[in-house]
Amino acid sequence: MKKPPLIMTNVLVFIVTAAIAFIGVPIWAANFGIDWTEIGVAIFLFYFTGMSITAGYHRLWSHKTYDANVVVRVVLAIGGAMAVQNSILHWSSDHRIHHRHVDDNDKDPYSAKKGLWFAHIGWMLREYQAKRYSDYSNCKDLQKDKVVMWQHNHYLLIMLVANFGITGFLGWLNGDILGMILVAGVLRLVLVHHVTFFINSLAHFWGNQPYTDNNTARDNGILAFFTFGEGYHNYHHIFEYDYRNGIRWYQFDPTKWLIAGLSFVGLTKNLRRCPEERIEKARATMQLQRASEKASVLPNADELLQTIQTEYDLLIQRMSEYYAARKRLMRMKHSSLKRNLESLEVMYKYKELKQSLALQKEKWLQLQSLSLQMA
Ligand SMILES: [Zn+2]
Ligand SMILES: [Zn+2]
Repeated sequence: MKKPPLIMTNVLVFIVTAAIAFIGVPIWAANFGIDWTEIGVAIFLFYFTGMSITAGYHRLWSHKTYDANVVVRVVLAIGGAMAVQNSILHWSSDHRIHHRHVDDNDKDPYSAKKGLWFAHIGWMLREYQAKRYSDYSNCKDLQKDKVVMWQHNHYLLIMLVANFGITGFLGWLNGDILGMILVAGVLRLVLVHHVTFFINSLAHFWGNQPYTDNNTARDNGILAFFTFGEGYHNYHHIFEYDYRNGIRWYQFDPTKWLIAGLSFVGLTKNLRRCPEERIEKARATMQLQRASEKASVLPNADELLQTIQTEYDLLIQRMSEYYAARKRLMRMKHSSLKRNLESLEVMYKYKELKQSLALQKEKWLQLQSLSLQMA
């Protein structure tokens, strides 16, 4: 089949910026040197523009996982334009289709099923989506956001002024305009491009799938380190309305920390989280599926499958009971019913259920490792 025509602007932007970053910058550095101010500004802008994409384009606008004050939105809109990944409206429209039709080669704009190169950058090089290039009907909500429309209507200007104006001005202050533009402008841009593109490419190929295998998205802690926390992509694809991607406190997710940090000073609010119960159940269901697959080829498969299913059913039941009790306890803590007999009973029941869930989890874990050993 004949490939669609190249989008020359995109091809040129990628080639010219990469050539400057990987050939021009080293030559410049060898002849004129690079100073620590330039490196510091480049690192700062790397995080600023990268996280304008992850916290802004992605978690705020595409998925509406929280609300942000207008100042935050303007700053993220400028930072996002500086990352040169098209406007918020366009990016979010593509991204919502990616989630809705993930891995569908005809609809997902960066379907991982079309290969690593396509998902990383190939999808932007040709007119694959020409028909719907300016159809933003899946982002009607965003069209009501004045910041989004201001950025969309003046995208080119904001992008150019942010990239050359900010770095040029800082370079002038530092006594070397071109040096700053090369390091904190172009080199930083190319790095931000590729680490954020990793989320569409590598995060759909490399890692594990603890929550679902209905799509190619993977969880990967190493990738999270380079993608401002977006490496927990398997979780993200099943619970996309959660402002977190790395849900555990120890999982590296600076985007989550930024959003939560801003909420402490009132700049963001209504941070949405998926209920713990649903997360745990999704994980257990994946484990059931894996254990059953392994057990099904063993000689005593029937008996084993029966045991696995029984223990899984018990686990789910214990989870439901425990989370219901926890909800009751929370409600009670908010009401004035404290310290009477009823509240003691609720507390007692909660503790009991917590313990029996822990026991069942232990049993379930043992069963997992048992079926692993036998397989
Ligand atoms: Zn997403
Ligand atoms: Zn994805």
